[in-house]
Formats: sequence, C-alpha cells, structure tokens
Amino acid sequence: MAQPRILILGAPGAGKGTQSQKITDEFDVDHVTTGDALRANKDMDISDMDTEYDTPREYMDRGELVPDEVVNAIVDEALSAADGFVLDGYPRNLEQAEELDEMTDLDVVLYLDVSEEELVHRLTGRRIDPETGEIYHVEYNPPEDPDVEARLEQRDDDTEETVRERLRVFRENTEPVIDHYDEQGDLERIDGEQAPDEVWADVKATIEDAA
Ligand code: ADP
Ligand code: ADP
Repeated sequence: MAQPRILILGAPGAGKGTQSQKITDEFDVDHVTTGDALRANKDMDISDMDTEYDTPREYMDRGELVPDEVVNAIVDEALSAADGFVLDGYPRNLEQAEELDEMTDLDVVLYLDVSEEELVHRLTGRRIDPETGEIYHVEYNPPEDPDVEARLEQRDDDTEETVRERLRVFRENTEPVIDHYDEQGDLERIDGEQAPDEVWADVKATIEDAA
C-alpha cells in the first residue's frame, strides 16, 4: 500500500497519542491530531462563527467539544496536505464522521478498548514534556532523566473533574461513532489495557495486515 490512511479511535486516555507517535515513526505518516492543533490555538478568536464561547479554551477547559465548524476546517486542511496519516481525536460525533467520509477514504480504523476506571487513572497521571511532546505517566511511564522529570507539565484539562466530564461527553457523542464504524464492518478492536509495547505489537500487525 502507499502510505496508509489510519484512523485511531478510543476514549480520552486510551493511548491514542502514545500509539500514534509509534505509528508515525514506523509508517512515515503525518500525525493529524485535533487536540494538539486546538491546544496550539486555544485563544484563537472564533466569535465570528456564531459559537457559544469566543475561544476553543473555554470549551476545552470545561471538557466540552469545540464546535464542528472549527474542527472540520482544521482536519480538512491537514488531510489534504498529507499523503498518509494517522488521525487522532477526530471524529468525535456522528456529524464529524459524516464530514470525514466526504474528505477521504480510510485504510484502517483502529479502536483502543480500555475500561473507564483505568482511563481516569491514566488521565490524571498523564504528564507531557513541553520540549519534545513526549507523553509520560507518573506511575506507568515516568521519564528516566531527572531533567525531563523536572520540566514535565500537566494538561489544564487532566483534572479529575474535567476528566469525568470528558468521559461523559465521550459516552454521549463518540461511542455512536465507534458503533458507526463497527456496523460498517471496518472496526479493528484492540485490547488497550495491555502494556504499551503489547498494544503496539497488535497495532502494528493490524496495520500491516491491512496493507
Ligand atoms: P484526549 O486525547 O485526552 O481525548 P484531546 O487532546 O483529543 O484529548 O482533546 C482535548 C480537547 O480538545 C477535547 O476535550 C475537546 O474540547 C477538544 N477537541 C479535540 N478534538 C476535538 C474534536 N474532534 N471535536 C471537538 N472538540 C475536540
Ligand atoms: P489519549 O491520546 O488516548 O488521550 P495518551 O496516549 O495520551 O492517550 O495516554 C494517556 C496516559 O496513559 C498517558 O499518561 C500515557 O503515558 C498512559 N498510557 C498510554 N498507553 C498506556 C498503556 N498501554 N498502559 C498504561 N499507560 C498507558
């Protein structure tokens, strides 16, 4: 296959970012992630789009979805610039899934399956290296280098209260997206509760099988 077009689905904290970083290294594709794109533009003025709030930040800090109009434009632009990609964080509702159907054809749809209790633990312990973007966890995946450990940051929305709201939004809006791909017979379900390297072995084999 030419460079693969991969969609990775999963709840907040399921390991999409962690696995996407490995996919980009192995398969030489772009990592298209709406979460990172929005975090880089949190204070962008979106008031002319007739939205409830004036910036993405106000939605994100509450754990709510940023309006489709904003997110669809980001994804459309990123996908048209990419040969192959791993798309992470989108679509998060059925309207976005319909938009995506119009934009591109996918080669593989992966779903990382993780229980809710584990998700809360992963998200509240998540830390990011602001210099490299590398994803760590205080317990499961701490950095070895004390200099890296000292500069780790926690995302504004990885607090217990916002995490609970994000999981509620996931159940309400994004689970139907997973059902949608499942009904089409396209969904490759992966046990996301395994150790990161075991999840990666399954992810890699599934992408290679689709080639
Ligand atoms: P996680 O990887 O933990 O699920 P993300 O980084 O994907 O979190 O998303 C963080 C926040 O960015 C979401 O809670 C939401 O406010 C916003 N966001 C990201 N992707 C989308 C999207 N496709 N549609 C609407 N909002 C989004
Ligand atoms: P997502 O992008 O789906 O929100 P991340 O990849 O950011 O998820 O992972 C969330 C947190 O869980 C991070 O702290 C990460 O280090 C940790 N993590 C990721 N995969 C695993 C795994 N298989 N086992 C344990 N912890 C994991």
